[in-house]
Amino acid sequence: MDFKPCQTASMEDITRNLQDIKARMAVSCQQVGRKPESVQLVAVSKKQPRDRIAAALAAGQRVFGENKVQEAQEHWADLRPIYPDLKLHLIGSLQSNKAADAVALFDVIESVDREKLVDALVAEMKRQKRDLPCYIQVNTGAEDQKGGVVPDRLEALYAYAVKAGLHVMGLMCIPPVDQPAMFHFGLLATWAKRLGLKDISMGMSADFEDAIRVGATHVRVGSALFGERPAAT
Ligand SMILES: *Cc1c(COP(=O)(O)O)cnc(C)c1O
Repeated sequence: MDFKPCQTASMEDITRNLQDIKARMAVSCQQVGRKPESVQLVAVSKKQPRDRIAAALAAGQRVFGENKVQEAQEHWADLRPIYPDLKLHLIGSLQSNKAADAVALFDVIESVDREKLVDALVAEMKRQKRDLPCYIQVNTGAEDQKGGVVPDRLEALYAYAVKAGLHVMGLMCIPPVDQPAMFHFGLLATWAKRLGLKDISMGMSADFEDAIRVGATHVRVGSALFGERPAAT
């Protein structure tokens, strides 16, 4: 395994960043009368070097998010057996033909956004005897290029997924970059409540405190924890 010991600097940075983010999460909870335990930090390790991931693990972080199945396998396949309490969230769009690999590796699928994917996931979970909690990703801004079900179709997809036997526990969104995120967070929280779903995944490095104030149960934080993602080579 190509597991290099992390450099002291990055280890210290990441430990400090983690403490800082946790403290800010706790303050946001306190401001709106929520318990700090009601929000989980999903550390987004996509495109991050392995020494930074090792540093986050050493600092005690156990919940991580990845947006590509293959990269997640490269990051995590050999670490899984070492950290049995690890929880991996898939937060990127999933092709139906990668459902088998996704079900085998991940613990939560946050990006369910169409009927065909529901069918593929249900079939794989049966085959592998793994029952993963799933979230429906909502394209709250109805943006063409973005994954997620458009708001008009959310209820129909939810009903379809429940009937198919998928364990839908929550909703997830990635707001449009050019609009106030708070508006989208509010919508997602309202829809989750209406459907009786307890998990709400929203908020990233720039806006996780806002997301917590309006009800996020999972915030997905990458660069504020690990530092900027190195440019693709
Ligand atoms: C990359 C990514 C994040 C983390 O973004 P940061 O701004 O680095 O915190 C969160 N959610 C999703 C779906 C992502 O793809």
